[in-house]
Amino acid sequence: FTFDQTPFHANIQRSFQQAGFERPSAIQAQAWPIAIQQTDMICIAKTGSGKTCGFLLPAFHQQLQLSDGKTTESSSRWSSRQTRATRAGTHTRIIQALERGVEVVIATPGRLNDLLEMRKADLSHIKYLVLDEADRMLDMGFEPQIRSIIEKDSHGTTDHCSFCHLHEKFKIGT
Ligand code: AMP
Repeated sequence: FTFDQTPFHANIQRSFQQAGFERPSAIQAQAWPIAIQQTDMICIAKTGSGKTCGFLLPAFHQQLQLSDGKTTESSSRWSSRQTRATRAGTHTRIIQALERGVEVVIATPGRLNDLLEMRKADLSHIKYLVLDEADRMLDMGFEPQIRSIIEKDSHGTTDHCSFCHLHEKFKIGT
């Protein structure tokens, strides 16, 4: 299985090869074809297996497809913008970035709930949700916070939020 055979936008294929990776890892080879179909998914793989790219690249691909024809940004510019946003650091700068509009939010459940309560974050147009290390979050008792976040999705297939519904609507990375 080579990168040329991956289902991704050419910009993503190029960026990934430029990063020096020779071929998709086992978890990527299994996850990508499923995620690209926008099907819900649970991935189980060790740290270091490449699972982060297993769920991030399909998200980038979806974003590039949505923006095709309007903003044809390269994936490298896209990812550097994302890095700037996530490294924004202080609370004020994070809020400023959210108010300008961001494509990707990486947050802990507690911090994201705070921002939702303050109406600084809006999940009504969320397209892709990853619960990274979901098993650990549940073990650590974060289920109420996770449910609270999902309930803020005002498009509403989650009125009766359960992890079953979660699976129906979202991508889940473990
Ligand atoms: P993980 O913690 O499972 O996301 O693994 C992350 C590590 O795997 C990072 O050091 C990545 O640079 C590396 N990585 C991701 N995809 C690949 C790949 N296809 N080939 C080799 N290394 C990879």
